Amino acid sequence: MKLYPLFADLSQRTVLVVGGGAVAERKIEALLGARALVTVHAPILTERLQHWVSEKRIAHHAGAFEEGLFDRVWLVVAATSDHVMNRRLAALAAQRRIFTNVVDDAALSSFHVPAVIDRAPLIIAISSGGDAPMLARLLRERLETLLDDSLGALATLAQKLRQRIRMRIPDMAPRRSFYESLFAGPVAALLRQGRPDAALAAAEQALASAPAPVAGSVVLVGAGPGDPGLLTLRALRALNEADVILHDRLVGAGVLELARRDAQRIEVGKQAGNHHTTQDGIHALLLAHARAGKRVVRLKGGDPFVFGRGGEELEFLREHGISCEVVPGITAAVACAAYAGVPLTHRDHAQSVRFVTAHCQSSRDTLDWAALAQERQTLAVYMGVAELATLQTRLLEHGRAASTPFALIENGTRAEQRVVTGTLGILAERALVHAVRSPALLILGEVAALASTLAWFGSPPLGATVHDIRAAVPVRALPVAAFAEHSGLLAAIHHV
Ligand code: SAH
Repeated sequence: MKLYPLFADLSQRTVLVVGGGAVAERKIEALLGARALVTVHAPILTERLQHWVSEKRIAHHAGAFEEGLFDRVWLVVAATSDHVMNRRLAALAAQRRIFTNVVDDAALSSFHVPAVIDRAPLIIAISSGGDAPMLARLLRERLETLLDDSLGALATLAQKLRQRIRMRIPDMAPRRSFYESLFAGPVAALLRQGRPDAALAAAEQALASAPAPVAGSVVLVGAGPGDPGLLTLRALRALNEADVILHDRLVGAGVLELARRDAQRIEVGKQAGNHHTTQDGIHALLLAHARAGKRVVRLKGGDPFVFGRGGEELEFLREHGISCEVVPGITAAVACAAYAGVPLTHRDHAQSVRFVTAHCQSSRDTLDWAALAQERQTLAVYMGVAELATLQTRLLEHGRAASTPFALIENGTRAEQRVVTGTLGILAERALVHAVRSPALLILGEVAALASTLAWFGSPPLGATVHDIRAAVPVRALPVAAFAEHSGLLAAIHHV
C-alpha cells in the first residue's frame, strides 16, 4: 500500500470515535492532544472516558447508531471489536467522503495513524502502511532512545529566534552552519540540562557575535521616457548614491549621465524578441550585487510597475531578504501624451483611459477586444511596431469606428520625437509610410484628434491635413528638406 503522508490540523474540528474501550480511550487521548472536538459513540465507556464526559471534554452518544452522527465530522475512528459494525462504518463514511481509520484493520481504513515520536513542535511519524506495524513500533522505540527529550525545547527556541537569525545571517550557507552549531553545541547541552533560560541567553549571545552582514540594497527606479528633466528628485538621489546601476536599453544616455561618475553601469536591456539578459539573469545579478553589500539601482524606462516587470523583481528580492525601495517614474503613456499635446482624458471626448500592452502573441490573445473597442475612451498601447496591423484589424472587427483618431508617438520626449497622426482605418499603413520604429506608443481615441492643434514639442505631427498645417505654422517658413523623409507631410506641402 502506497500512502500519502500528511499532518492534519484537527483543532476545533469534530472527530467521531466509535467504541468506548481501552483502544478508543488511547485514540481519544491523542485526538484531544491535537485539540479535536471528540464525539464518542458507544453503549459503555471506560472509567476515564466517563470522567472526560462528565468534565465535558468529550461528547457522548449512547443510543443506537444513526447516520446523523456523521454530520459535521471530519474524521472517523472505528475502535470496536465488531467487524460487521466496522465494515458498515467504513462504507457509510466513504459515501460521505469522510476519512476513516479502523483500528488494526489496514484494508478497511482510508487513513492510517502512524507510530509517533512526539517532541512537539517536532513530530516524527512512522508508517509501514499496515504491512509491518511491529517494525514501525520497533523503529519508534529505537528513535525514542536516540532523540533527547529536550529536542522539542530546542525546536521552540529555534522558532523563537528564526526571524532574527534570518536577518542577521541572510546567506544560506553560513546560516546553515549557525543552526548546526546551535543544535549540536552548548545551547543544546543547556537544554538537556533543563536550563531553558541559560540556553536562550547562550543562543542570543552566539547570534550577536555572528559576523554582521554587509547591508546591500536595491532601489527600483523609474527613469521616465527619456527626457532627463522628467526624472523625480528621488530618482536623482538614488542615482547619485548608487554603486551599481543595472539599466534597460530604453533608458536614455542623458539620464545615465546624471548618475554617480564611478558607479558601475550594466546594461541588461531587453528588446521584444531579442532578450539580452533573461529575467532570471537580471534577478541573479541584482542579488549578487546586493549581497556583496552594494547599493544597487535597477533603472527602468518609464515606471517600474507599468509593463516593466518591476513587480517580479521586487517579489524576488523580498523573498531573498534584500532591502528594497521603489521610485516611480513617468510612464510612456503619460509622457508621450503630454509631449504630443494629447490629453488622455477630456470632459468632451474620453472619460477613461486604458494602458494596454500588445507586445507579443500571448499578451494580444488575452486582451478583451470588445471592451477595448468601446467609444469615448482612450487606449494607450505599449507595443512593438510590428503589432499595429493586428491591433487595427481586431479593433475594427470589434466595432471601433475606422474614423477614430490616433497619434503614434515615436521616441516620445526625446529630441528625435516624431508624432504620426491619422485614423484607425489607415493606422498600419501610416506607420509603414513613415517607417515608425520602436520605442513607439499608440494613443487611440477621440482625444488623439487634439494633437493637431495642441502639439507643442518638437516637429509638428505628421499626417496633419493641409488645413491644419496652414493654421498651425506658416508653411513656407518650414525647412522642407528637413521633412523630406516624411512623405505624408511632403505630400501635404506639395499639395499647397
Ligand atoms: N515601463 C515602461 C514601459 C516598458 S514597455 C513605462 O512605464 O513606460 C516598452 C514600451 O514602452 C515600448 O515598446 C513603447 O511602446 C513604450 N515606450 C517606452 N518609452 C517610450 C518613448 N520614449 N516613446 C514612445 N514609447 C515609449
